[in-house]
Amino acid sequence: MTLIQGRTGEWECVIGLEIHAQVISKAKLFSGAPTDFGAEPNTQVSFVDAAMPGMLPVINGFCVEQAVRTGLGLGAEINLVSVFDRKNYFYPDLPQGYQISQFPRPIVGKGSITLDLEGGETRTVGITRLHLEQDAGKSLHDRDPGATYIDLNRSGVALMEIVSEPDMRSAAEAGAYIRKLRSILRYLGTCDGNMEEGSLRADVNVSVRRPGEELGTRCEIKNVNSVRFVQQAIEYEASRQIDIIEDGGEIAQETRLFDPSRGETRAMRTKEESHDYRYFPDPDLLPLELDADWVAGIKASLPELPEAKKARFMADFDLNAYDAGVLVAERETAEYFEAVAEGRDAKACANWVTGDLFAALNKAGLGITDAPVTASSLGALIDLIDDGTISRRIAKEVFETMWRTGNDAAAIVAEKGLEQISDTAAIEAEIDTIIAANPGQVAEFKGGNEKVIGWFVGQVMKATGGKANPKTVNEILRKKLAD
Ligand code: ADP
Ligand code: MG
Repeated sequence: MTLIQGRTGEWECVIGLEIHAQVISKAKLFSGAPTDFGAEPNTQVSFVDAAMPGMLPVINGFCVEQAVRTGLGLGAEINLVSVFDRKNYFYPDLPQGYQISQFPRPIVGKGSITLDLEGGETRTVGITRLHLEQDAGKSLHDRDPGATYIDLNRSGVALMEIVSEPDMRSAAEAGAYIRKLRSILRYLGTCDGNMEEGSLRADVNVSVRRPGEELGTRCEIKNVNSVRFVQQAIEYEASRQIDIIEDGGEIAQETRLFDPSRGETRAMRTKEESHDYRYFPDPDLLPLELDADWVAGIKASLPELPEAKKARFMADFDLNAYDAGVLVAERETAEYFEAVAEGRDAKACANWVTGDLFAALNKAGLGITDAPVTASSLGALIDLIDDGTISRRIAKEVFETMWRTGNDAAAIVAEKGLEQISDTAAIEAEIDTIIAANPGQVAEFKGGNEKVIGWFVGQVMKATGGKANPKTVNEILRKKLAD
């Protein structure tokens, strides 16, 4: 258990997340207007989205399908009957004066997510529900010093609100939860998970308690848009609450905002209760009834999801939980790895992908589908190590050249003459020279200092420009030094 040390004893932090995930769909939830991100303000707004009097919402079947697909991907119950409700509140970028959402009867019920934690540990977090709702528009405060502009392009875009149980106990777990949920959504193709563009946003509920006690009063931090900020907000909020209680105060249930520039949360308003919204079934929409066969058809079409893929990678490729977890996080990475590992030593391939390849991608700010080194050319490089043509060290250099030039490994090795020297005569000659020049080290070795062998290997590698076969070098060295 992750406990926090306070002045008066230990505390446990309790976290529940509400994730708003924008549905991948060409049209909005109740209108045919397009949903492309970054369009000119107010160019993707139908009369329904602008809430013109008398306009009627018409449900977009594809958004419903996406929500069902997501529910199935989270191993959750699909409710064959669900109901759309009006959630009433005023906001300048909410022209209807209410949001069409779902309250007592959501489309998806209980499910779960398995978190991948550090060291390959896992932990299950309950999903309470998933419901469909409309997104609001955007208020633009930075166009004019004296006025706020409204952009309704986002008004009416379909959101899935995915609510977790208060099952997380640390900022690290909350981070792992968002990463895993994002990964599942991307595998399913139901949300692009782009937090910078706001397609995935988190409301973070945090409370603290003494271990074993009842749940404490929570504060909700609204609309946090990066994993790092979620984690910072939790750390800050937990210690703020602990300080208040330890000073004899009480936590007020409230909605707070995270300020990334200061790393702090600030009170925004006292938290409303659900009855404040005066929810009632939207009279413009019939209850949503799904056909069980249709749901079964969606279930049958789900791709292999990260959890199953991870288990398969561990079983088939003998990878540890950590490596498997990293490789399956993105579908494209998993596909790339599988293509490299086909018929090769999987552990070595995993090391190349998560090591040199990831480092190069990070440095270049590229995704794996844009890597200048393809899976088959990386595979060919690994083959050159396996068949003894080049050493591991040289292979790293070759990889860098492949990355820069897009040439294949064999061509680079031939052009630069990087073939490993396995010719014993040539290696022996180098070794003789080095032994003759370093009587001190020879004496040390003979005196029982085994470690000097490493120094000798290093000298031979230096003399051969790293091209000598280390295994051969070792063998010959040992033989000669024993003489
Ligand atoms: P609301 O929509 O009013 O925020 P919900 O009942 O939907 O209320 O709950 C929101 C979130 O708060 C859920 O993710 C839940 O797990 C979390 N939560 C509830 N109680 C606590 C608590 N005491 N501490 C931390 N999180 C909590
Ligand atoms: Mg909430």
